[in-house]
Amino acid sequence: MNDASDGDRYLVVGNPIAHSRSPEIHAEFARQTGQPISYRRQLIPTEPADAFDRVVAAFAAAGGRGLNVTLPFKERAFACATRHSERALQAGAVNTLALGDDGIYGDNTDGPGLVSDLQGRLGFDLHGRSVLLLGAGGAARGVIMSLLQAGVARLTVANRTPARARELAARFNAAPAVRDSGLAAVGAVALDAAPRAALVINATSSGVLNAALALPPDLFRDCSLAYDCVYGAQDTAFMRMARAGGATQASDGLGMLVEQAAESFLIWRGVRPQTAPVFRMLRASVASVASVAAVAARAADGA
Ligand code: NAP
Repeated sequence: MNDASDGDRYLVVGNPIAHSRSPEIHAEFARQTGQPISYRRQLIPTEPADAFDRVVAAFAAAGGRGLNVTLPFKERAFACATRHSERALQAGAVNTLALGDDGIYGDNTDGPGLVSDLQGRLGFDLHGRSVLLLGAGGAARGVIMSLLQAGVARLTVANRTPARARELAARFNAAPAVRDSGLAAVGAVALDAAPRAALVINATSSGVLNAALALPPDLFRDCSLAYDCVYGAQDTAFMRMARAGGATQASDGLGMLVEQAAESFLIWRGVRPQTAPVFRMLRASVASVASVAAVAARAADGA
């Protein structure tokens, strides 16, 4: 444990967690805003089933102030929270926990993070646009409400397992926040029947699994922006496929990562950090780690 001079303590937890960039991002936010915090990563075992709850309880008892939560614990974090934001309630998943005397507040900042990156950094106005969301897992669930609230005209979820897309669409369409507010209804189709759209978002894990996405051949013909929630040192396979298919612009999800972290920081500290310099720093860092790894691999090969 840290001593008090480290300031208020935060954690990012998941399994795996070693790859997480969140400590770098929050250290930079803290430096920029002068907020006295420390932020560490911690691996949580997937067994026993209550390992997550025990870590949160111990961290709270030791005076910890908040956690970011990643795979596979976002549903567990939802169950652990005693109060939820509206968007976390709709998603049924939480990536931000704030620990206070009045209990544990759970929010999901993936949606606002994505929308900020789309509308801010990339200048893509969502209002009145058609959107295709590929995938029906945790990431998709976390972003649907924010896309609807940004005023999209059509939102279709396309998933390899169509029943999961249908279940997700039904869940959102039945929610009073969607049904009674004039927001667009969510459609659901199989991945190979995905309709063309101005914005195509890849929220599947196919990229990290190195698996091909079986999409209709002309899917990107009317696409202004193809957005991959995954990020890397180079363009992702999805970005390359989208450009080759006619998409005007393609982006990875590094900006979403920084923006969702900024939302968490705001929830915890009441201050919104500037994201553009942190995005530039992280982009350079991701590229340099990859080039060091490439040099090491070439050296190991004797190249
Ligand atoms: P998840 O809950 O495990 O869901 C995975 C989704 O991918 C499911 O819809 C699954 O379809 C689909 N899928 C997996 N392999 C596929 C393939 N070969 N072809 C077609 N579909 C496939 O994962 P998640 O939490 O939603 O995360 C998805 C991705 O988003 C991850 O790579 C994660 O790193 C990224 N993410 C990024 C950010 C960010 O800040 N940039 C934030 C959150 C998540 P089935 O239902 O058919 O299995």
